[in-house]
Amino acid sequence: MRVYEGKRVSGGIAIGRIWVYRRQEQQAEPVKVSDVQGELLRFEAAKAEAARQLLSLYEKTLPKAGEAEAAIFMGQRMLAEDLEYNDFVKNIVCTRKVQAEYAVNAAAEYFSGKLEELDETYLRERAADVRDVSRRILAALGSGAAGEEAPGQTGILGGSFSQAGIPGGSSGQTGILGGGVILARMGEEPVILAAEELSPSETAQLDRNRILALVTVHGSQYSHAAILAGTMAVPALVGTPLPLDHTVDGKLAVVDGDSGRIYVEPDAEFLAEMTALKQKTLADRKELEDLKGLETVTRGGRRIRLYANLNQIGELAAVRQNDAEGIGLFRSEFLYLEREDLPTEEEQFLIYRQVAEAMEGRPVVIRTLDLGADKQCGYLGPEQEENPALGLRGIRMCLARPEIFRTQLRALFRASAYGKIGILYPMITSVGEVERIREITAQVKAELREQGFAWGEPEQGIMIETPAAALISDVLARKVDFFSIGTNDLTQYALAADRQDPNLWEYYDPHHPAILRMIAMVVENAHKAGIRAGICGEPGADPALVAELLAMGVDELSMPPERILAIRRLVREMDKKNTAK
Ligand code: PEP
Ligand code: MG
Repeated sequence: MRVYEGKRVSGGIAIGRIWVYRRQEQQAEPVKVSDVQGELLRFEAAKAEAARQLLSLYEKTLPKAGEAEAAIFMGQRMLAEDLEYNDFVKNIVCTRKVQAEYAVNAAAEYFSGKLEELDETYLRERAADVRDVSRRILAALGSGAAGEEAPGQTGILGGSFSQAGIPGGSSGQTGILGGGVILARMGEEPVILAAEELSPSETAQLDRNRILALVTVHGSQYSHAAILAGTMAVPALVGTPLPLDHTVDGKLAVVDGDSGRIYVEPDAEFLAEMTALKQKTLADRKELEDLKGLETVTRGGRRIRLYANLNQIGELAAVRQNDAEGIGLFRSEFLYLEREDLPTEEEQFLIYRQVAEAMEGRPVVIRTLDLGADKQCGYLGPEQEENPALGLRGIRMCLARPEIFRTQLRALFRASAYGKIGILYPMITSVGEVERIREITAQVKAELREQGFAWGEPEQGIMIETPAAALISDVLARKVDFFSIGTNDLTQYALAADRQDPNLWEYYDPHHPAILRMIAMVVENAHKAGIRAGICGEPGADPALVAELLAMGVDELSMPPERILAIRRLVREMDKKNTAK
């Protein structure tokens, strides 16, 4: 058995044979033409065809994955019309008197190369879109007559090429999706699809019924393809160092989306274990699926809102699949941790906006940078602290480096024009910090106003995760719009037990009466001031605590998305005496 570890895009267990997909790229040689005008017309016709296909893909993706994901194809449509891209292609055709295929390939290489050089991850990811749309134009050029479609074949890349609006699938040529090649090689059995990488077009057209799991060697959790893969509700991994050769092709494998691993040629004992686990998970999952769309309300009528914690944008699909009523905690620090330099305002804005739009009007609470302690960011300066958990972490670091804080706030305010964004400040210990934050946000808003930017009126709340904040929560409650109780840190600070240290688990006890009393006190102070209080630490999803938290009057619980439906089931089975408030 060989094990390869990648990054999780979507969870679950899949068992089956691996099928390696190799995209066949068209290598266009510079073929000379005498009719340059005719060649330009051919390019225009191919572009029109590509635009038609992209519109059809948008319409096809919309009901399956929602507006934010489907919009990827409208974005690609705009790329095909990009002035610079078009000038580049036309210039090559005219000056070198060559076929459009060569010019489109050159443009794809040039513009995707330029994008890949950029610092901003989000823009770098767009290189895949440029290549994707160029392949589509190439295929339309290769198919000759625009709009010619293959007769209703079914392949792994979609119910049928004609349905998806992809021409030329049956011509045996290596078209945009390697069409004919894939159809010929594909067996009937559903497979674990392994590939170097998948483009958004390829991913959107995968037939859910023939895919057990997706594993790619490249690609990031931020890529459009990963987001689309997540919406398919099959286990999916990216960045997996899987050799795409005979040692894996056709071999039996287990994909564990939750741990981010693929096990190739598993031994009998492990296979039996995973098969049993899969059966159990499936049976339970089926029961939970029926709870989607239902309210989280006890038999006695006590209603509570269940939100998701989000660490990576790639987890958005899981958030939606698990019917979260919103995002209660987006840990924005992960945007800063997975790179070598600070994310820019524009880059952050695009990500926050994407999350807000994907949640379609449901609340999205984004926590400002909470670095320090266990989340260290090398490029911000290796300041060694004796006790990092008691050091310059969370809001303290932001107030000490206001230029970093301001950039993030600008991005957050700007994104708040696109959805129901709330801003959450971590590690608060004093009223002074809240007042300082208010001054900075007022300056940021004045600046944005002057520069003509629009924003919504995001709610602004604080984390109650230090005993100090809990004890002065009556005063703090009058200064903010909401509380989010961070029981993970509250427990470590109240009980003086490092949350990272397994030797202290005996002492690190979120059920400790001191913690429960603090939660009750914070909720009561919040309600007295007319604001809401939620819990976003892990104990919010602890079945043994939920009834007690409800009885205290907690308004919201935010948790890993996979826990939501199980907690909904638990709440719906509770009766009045457990949850009176
Ligand atoms: C917490 O402390 O409970 C919390 C939710 O924040 P984090 O786990 O990110 O520190
Ligand atoms: Mg915390």
